[in-house]
Amino acid sequence: MFGEEKCGCYVVHVELDELEIQYCPKHKAAPDLHKVIRNITKLPYYDDLPAPIRYAIEKALAKAEGK
Ligand SMILES: [Zn+2]
Repeated sequence: MFGEEKCGCYVVHVELDELEIQYCPKHKAAPDLHKVIRNITKLPYYDDLPAPIRYAIEKALAKAEGK
């Protein structure tokens, strides 16, 4: 093991010059969560969701997309 984050992600040396990230469950799921949340914004009734929920969804989406 090379270095471990608080969340549980860590880096391992697989070869002398090759490092690999072992993701914790939360970060392993991040691409799936991003896809799900993006698809939620495309629902026909998305605009009918309560504003605080839409705000939280859009904030998380912007964070995931580096905006
Ligand atoms: Zn992590």
